[in-house]
Amino acid sequence: MADRDGLIWLDGEMVPWREAKVHVLTHTLHYGMGVFEGVRAYDAEQGTSIFRLDAHTQRLLNSAKIMNMKMPYDKATLDEAQRAAVRENNLKSAYIRPMAFYGAEGMGLRADNLKVHVMVAAWEWGAYMGEENLTKGIKIATSSYTRHHVNVTMTKAKSNGQYMNSMLALQEAIGNGCHEALLLDVDGYVSEGSGENFFMVKEGVLYTPELTSCLDGITRKTIMQLAKELGIEVREKRITRDEVYICDEAFFTGTAAEVTPIRMLDNREIGCGSRGPITEKLQSLYFDIVHGRSPQHMNWLTQVAN
Ligand code: PMP
Repeated sequence: MADRDGLIWLDGEMVPWREAKVHVLTHTLHYGMGVFEGVRAYDAEQGTSIFRLDAHTQRLLNSAKIMNMKMPYDKATLDEAQRAAVRENNLKSAYIRPMAFYGAEGMGLRADNLKVHVMVAAWEWGAYMGEENLTKGIKIATSSYTRHHVNVTMTKAKSNGQYMNSMLALQEAIGNGCHEALLLDVDGYVSEGSGENFFMVKEGVLYTPELTSCLDGITRKTIMQLAKELGIEVREKRITRDEVYICDEAFFTGTAAEVTPIRMLDNREIGCGSRGPITEKLQSLYFDIVHGRSPQHMNWLTQVAN
């Protein structure tokens, strides 16, 4: 990953990819206090465009506020850094990773001289769980790891340290022959995947967990709006794992995972055991929108070209 050509935006400048380095005493590396985003740019009809840039940058700023990190750049600068990271690396489509982190100015939990640094990298990244799983669907398992409690790490922030829990859950799921984990909250209700929000369909109604313990996903919000536009009723509620066993369709959403159908949970087939019709409809509309093929959703796309 580190050894390639290209440029990374670091603290206001474009730096050669191989030189975008930090010191081993970088504070965030030690304690995990940092915030980041995962954003995608698509090869859209009108030229390479970032999907919902405004929402992602706003969430990054909100995450920093929650963690009490002083963001040294305004929203316009952060938006432009993301466009530039795609544009200046000549990428047609890209995964974009902005992150704000504490530097090596001090060490220890009491360090009070820390500076917030910001980086934005962009690279080509295909379907997160493989192209064929976008149609076939994935196999998942309920995790033995519990999702964060809101008063342990605040779940409205997309913060670095939270992903230790995600990685433990994902490693366990993969070790058990699955593609992804389904994490439950502290009360035992469905929360989310290691990096995705969860949806299920039952008798034509779309259900998703309330936001108490899961990330306020931008794809989640998008899919909820699209469902409403298609006349599909959407309900946010507590969901139990056995409700999922007997639902008609289930899928994950996320910037990386896009709309990924779930075909099996805990060795029980979900619905027909492959992508369901409502999942397919929402997924297909999502892909039309991100590729600039839906005139009424063009305001969600920001071109990277100047
Ligand atoms: N939950 C978690 C834990 C995530 O990491 C992500 C990916 N950012 C999501 C949900 C989905 O969020 P989004 O749709 O904004 O990418």
